[in-house]
This record gives sequence, structure tokens and C-alpha cells, in this order.
Amino acid sequence: MQVPVPHNIRQISPYVPGKPVQEVERELGISSSLKMASNENPLGPSPKAVEAVRNLLGELHIYPEGSGFYLCQALGRHYGVPAQQVILGNGSVEIVEMSARAYLNRQANAVFSFGSFALYPIACQIMDAPIKAVPMRERNHDLDALLDAVDEKTRLLILDNPINPTGRYIPFADLQSFLERVPGHVLVIVDEAYKEYADAPDYATVQPLLARFPNLMVLGTFSKAYGLAGLRVGYGFAHPEVIATLHKVRSPFNTSSAAQVAAMAALEDQEFVAKGVALNAAERPYLTQGCRDAGIPVVPSQANFVLIDVPMPGEQFFQAMLREGVIIRPMANNGYPHSLRVSVFHHEGNERFLEAAKKILGR
Ligand SMILES: *Cc1c(COP(=O)(O)O)cnc(C)c1O
Repeated sequence: MQVPVPHNIRQISPYVPGKPVQEVERELGISSSLKMASNENPLGPSPKAVEAVRNLLGELHIYPEGSGFYLCQALGRHYGVPAQQVILGNGSVEIVEMSARAYLNRQANAVFSFGSFALYPIACQIMDAPIKAVPMRERNHDLDALLDAVDEKTRLLILDNPINPTGRYIPFADLQSFLERVPGHVLVIVDEAYKEYADAPDYATVQPLLARFPNLMVLGTFSKAYGLAGLRVGYGFAHPEVIATLHKVRSPFNTSSAAQVAAMAALEDQEFVAKGVALNAAERPYLTQGCRDAGIPVVPSQANFVLIDVPMPGEQFFQAMLREGVIIRPMANNGYPHSLRVSVFHHEGNERFLEAAKKILGR
């Protein structure tokens, strides 16, 4: 290739998604494999969201509402946030990317935990921004170390809570006192993609702190508990000035009309969300205990997945599981060479995972 690529772009290792079922089945000549690799909803999408998209099909020639006004209003009503403090993304990851675009450059750095969500470093590298990746402690954010990494040139501090891929979390009170200590020139992004699944008594969304901290942004998504990963729609809450800044760098029509109507319908279908959350609350302990009983170490999780450790390279375990028809996610690229992330599935799926894992490990 003759077109020179800037060094920061050359250095990016592209995000590696979970392996699609069709690809695995084609490559291995197997069928009825099970994907427990992308934390997708085992119940599928909300039927009400499906219906809303079906009703929209005759309108596909019309551009979507540019900023998703009605969905922003619905989210505002649902969460008790003024609509001018809401922004939509083509997936919540797009809001991380917009924030990087708006606030980072070669002189403005970003701070996050090494080994948290793999998209954070990519979003920062695109901007050629210096990255301060801070080691975790016991597979959780080390808040003191993150704060120590902040300097006068820091503009973003990104935290997922619960954490992908470890499943661990920071209690509300700790995050609150952390926010009190972060200087005002740093936008703190708290990515709560799995908040619906977190049930620890001391876990809570930091959304009620928005009024107190104008440098706080809270992210949520329709990809997990709402079962709409394929449509790509997430949301962010922040101070109106932050939202106005993000709109400057947002692509027009960044969420599709289908995503907007589906998300509005899904938001109304809290019964569906509750069903998925209850399934996860029953199956996460089953999967966790099943691993422990098989001598497989598991990190206690507050999300809809668990991180396991295996006594072989994670990639090798991943390949062996593929041959059993169970797709999980090796985490070497995220800094965990002997760990894999396993999405909590329906009971039969979790059983099948445990049987296959025991077979491979000879347990
Ligand atoms: C799955 C996930 C998201 C959601 O991403 P979308 O772009 O909304 O699909 C965001 N953050 C983390 C940490 C995730 O694991």
C-alpha cells in the first residue's frame, strides 16, 4: 500500500468481537453451537421492540429523527433526567468515541484501567492521545491509582462498572467519594452497560450524582438487558454543556430509525427486562458454583458473564470449547492470557458449557 498511515492508527489492534455462530459452524462443520461470547441476551429481543420495528418497515425511506428526540425524552422520563442531558449513540461505544473526539488530542490524555473494556484504548489511540492505563487490583479498578494518574492534561477518565471482562464492581459510596476527589477538568465516564444485572446491596448507578458533578457522564445501553445488540443503540447522561459539545462531533443520524423505535418500545417493556435479570440472577450463581465445583477459578461477577481462569493458554481452551460447539471469549488481547469470559446463558446452555469444560480439563 502506498498511502501512509499515521503511526497512531498503525498501532491500533482492531477490536476482536466474539466469534459468530455461523462462522464457527462453517469452519468446524458442526451445528447447534452455542454462543456465550458476547454477553447477548439469551431471551432474545423484547417482543414489543420486534413489533415496533415491524411497524416501521414501510417508513424506511425516511431519515431518522436526527438526534433521537423522542427516545431522549423517553429515557429522560424513565430515568428522571432532563432530555437536554441525554445523548444517543450507535451503541454506547459510539458515545465513548464521541467523547474521545471531543476532548482528546496529542496534548490531552485519558486515564482508564488496564484490562477493562477493550474499546477504551482504541477510542483514545484514534485521537493520538496519550493513554495512562493503570493496573487493576484484584481485578477491580484501583481508584487511588487512577486518581494518581490524573494530571493537569487529563481530560477523560473512563470506568466501567461492573467491569467487562472481570465482572467486579465499585460500590456507589466509593465512586461518590472518588468523584469528589477528581479535579473538575476531567470528564469521568462511568460506563454502566451491565447495571441492570448488578444486585449487590452497595451497587447503584451514579446517575443521581449528575446534578452534583458537572464533569460526570453516565453511559447505558440497549445491547444487554434490553436485548437489542444488533440494532446498536446506547445513551449517555451528562451536563447540558457536555452534551452540547458531543453533538458537535456526532455524525448526523447516528442512530437508525429502527433502533430508535425499538428502544422506545423496549423501554416500555420492563417486564421483559425483569425476566432477563431474574434469569441471570438464578443462572450466574449456578454457573459460578458449577465452575468452582469443577476446580475452575471464577471471579465473582455482578454482570451477565463470568471470567474464568484455566490451566492452559486461554486460546487453546477456547479452541477446544469450539470443537464442543460452545463459543466463549478468550481474553488474551485484554491482558488475561489464561482467562476467558463466559456469558451467562439459559440453564441448558450453562449446563452444556460446564459439561464441555469438565471434559476438556479432565475433571
Ligand atoms: C457491551 C458493553 C457496552 C455496550 O456497547 P454497545 O455499543 O452499547 O453495544 C459498553 N460498555 C461495555 C463495558 C460493554 O461490555
